[in-house]
Amino acid sequence: MSELTENVPAYDSDIVVIGAGAAGLMTAIHAARAGHLRVVALDGAPRIGIKILVAGGGRCNVTHHVVDERDYAGSTPAAIRRVLSRFSVADCVAFFNQLGVTFKQEDTGKLFPTTDDAHTVLNALLQAARDSGVDLRWPIRVQSITPLAQGGFEVAGPWGVLRARAIALCSGGKSLPKSGSDGLGLELVKTLGHSVTRHVIPSLVPLVSDAQHWARTLSGLAVEAEIRVVSGTGRHIISSINSMLFTHFGFSGPAVLDMSRHLMMERTRDPDASLQLCFLPNLRHDLPKGPKHNAKLSCSLDEADTWLLDSKAQTVLSRLRERLPERLAKTLLESAGIPTDRSAKQIDRERRRSLAQLLCAAPAHIVGDRGFSHAEVTAGGVPLNELNVSTLQSRMCPGLFMAGEILDVDGRIGGFNFQWAWASGFVAGISIAKYLDS
Ligand SMILES: Cc1cc2nc3c(=O)[nH]c(=O)nc-3n(C[C@H](O)[C@H](O)[C@H](O)COP(=O)(O)OP(=O)(O)OC[C@H]3O[C@@H](n4cnc5c(N)ncnc54)[C@H](O)[C@@H]3O)c2cc1C
Repeated sequence: MSELTENVPAYDSDIVVIGAGAAGLMTAIHAARAGHLRVVALDGAPRIGIKILVAGGGRCNVTHHVVDERDYAGSTPAAIRRVLSRFSVADCVAFFNQLGVTFKQEDTGKLFPTTDDAHTVLNALLQAARDSGVDLRWPIRVQSITPLAQGGFEVAGPWGVLRARAIALCSGGKSLPKSGSDGLGLELVKTLGHSVTRHVIPSLVPLVSDAQHWARTLSGLAVEAEIRVVSGTGRHIISSINSMLFTHFGFSGPAVLDMSRHLMMERTRDPDASLQLCFLPNLRHDLPKGPKHNAKLSCSLDEADTWLLDSKAQTVLSRLRERLPERLAKTLLESAGIPTDRSAKQIDRERRRSLAQLLCAAPAHIVGDRGFSHAEVTAGGVPLNELNVSTLQSRMCPGLFMAGEILDVDGRIGGFNFQWAWASGFVAGISIAKYLDS
């Protein structure tokens, strides 16, 4: 062997993409489309694209008609905006349209494929990957990544080794571990010099109430409510008006899921942070849906009390039924110790105020969440300030790129998490190709 050959490592591929979920497929497609690079995408799961298939109840909420950095939490808004701005909702729609996927927009602003079938989205991505020459292999789980002295990386597992000039780590977070995203990528990235946020917790996750909470008796009931996260000292942190669902374990539904990461992350700093439920969200005026950071509550204790008193000779039950389902109305009355046949004027002030309190700020008594197996996304991950946000290349390890949920970015319900996966995958894909071309 000549000296020259000895010094040049044999690369099996130009690029290895680790993880072929939404972000990994997007990265691989755009890296392969950019030129004549050999792109291998590996996925450890026995079935490819499970999360795309289960998303949106099997319909896949691909994106939202308006997306900006305020729809996300995690790394800084400015950094998130930089990435999102490179691949807009219009770019996303055009990209999928080219693959033959058309969309319909629901009243909520969510975009679904017109087929109402997530297979349409996954099949289009897999076809695009094949058409652009991506070599897709599974189940191939990467268990180690070693930078090579001469440049590039060796990725390895029980299946063997692969050497590549550059890699994209798109291994997701820890949500729905049976889909293959069990957090191994977060361990691998630490071996390459990166850090991971101190807290990596489930997000968009149902919340568990105290076993004695009256809410558990309402399992199956859905209502419109304002869900508030409040600090231990009673300071309003964030709230969301949307539908919520009572369950046999506690609470679920969009408003609760959206607030779950804020409550659980707040509790890492302030164990007394709590969740409040307001069942008169539109008493004052019709407020827009979705998370709000301002402290303007949709209904105060005094307003709820005045609303009760305005009912005149009406029974409180019939007053509550104007805005609440009967089951909830009866449960709140029982909880406040008020018989259903009384009018507001017949109730002593203390009981009436305690009912008003339940209507506008009922304590949810949350004791935990349902964990990563029931979470749609992961809060926490690799901080964006450890990457160049224009390219999503690592600042610590040249030739390493990242995209998707492995990064410290999580969105609210509505297609925002996929939009992050598409946008960051696009940036990582074109950037890794440019990096190798230069
Ligand atoms: C039930 C559910 C419903 C959802 N619905 C929606 C929705 O409708 N709209 C929306 O916007 N978002 C939704 N989400 C969130 C969305 O699915 C994720 O944010 C998105 O899929 C993240 O993409 P990703 O590619 O970064 O990670 P993932 O989709 O988690 O993909 C990571 C891939 O990497 C592979 N992998 C991990 N480690 C390794 C390794 N060591 N070696 C090889 N491969 C590895 C995994 O097998 C996996 O396939 C939903 C999530 C869940 C769980």
